[in-house]
Amino acid sequence: MKITYIEHSGFCAELEDVCFLFDYYKGAVPEISAGKALVVFVSHKHGDHYNPEIFGLLEKYPKVQFVISRDVRLKWKILEYREKGIDLETHILAAAKNTEQLITLTNGKKLKLETLKSTDEGVAYLLTYDEKVIYHAGDLNLWIWEGESKQYNNNMRKAYFTELEKLKDKKIDVAFVPLDPRLENHAFDGLSSFMEYTESKHVFPMHFWGEFNIIPAFLEKYPEYGEQIKIIEKTGQVFEISGI
Ligand SMILES: [Zn+2]
Repeated sequence: MKITYIEHSGFCAELEDVCFLFDYYKGAVPEISAGKALVVFVSHKHGDHYNPEIFGLLEKYPKVQFVISRDVRLKWKILEYREKGIDLETHILAAAKNTEQLITLTNGKKLKLETLKSTDEGVAYLLTYDEKVIYHAGDLNLWIWEGESKQYNNNMRKAYFTELEKLKDKKIDVAFVPLDPRLENHAFDGLSSFMEYTESKHVFPMHFWGEFNIIPAFLEKYPEYGEQIKIIEKTGQVFEISGI
């Protein structure tokens, strides 16, 4: 599998016959060979996870499919495309939290799509395709803020671990998980808990606002995850993962 770090929480995961693009909001989308199915995921409506420019991919990849969290408002986009003679709705699947469904991709194969409930807005995605499991957290994270009330932070912990329980001992091939420096002393908590709960082989930290140094800092505290955690050093970086 080939993974490209685009920007922030935006990644492209490319397999032999499909390409999954997650939470694009800026940066360069890698060239995707025309023979591959393309599925674009949006975890929620926030500007750092969703850019309506993704629909421009239709020009280059007319068969592209979009899986978009229900909190994203699409009415105006659909009308805009209708005027251009394109029925955008036929390309879109609206994703709700806590669901499981089988989607037929344009290459004729099936994708099992499961969603979790984010602790912010929208959903996290768990994909099973060709026996490979890919997880993209969106903004599902342990958002413990120093300035928040005890009650808020307690509710947050409860909500986060409720979702992690659903992933308990899950064998995940590739995971994309937030590691947000703004959380200061609690910045590592969400990812370290995720590592503890799941059996994830290749884990890409994300949502670090260009502070690449947070990844080595995390590994300094948790050297036991050195095999799994990928060190991202720049936008556009490509990782070839052998065996999957
Ligand atoms: Zn975000």
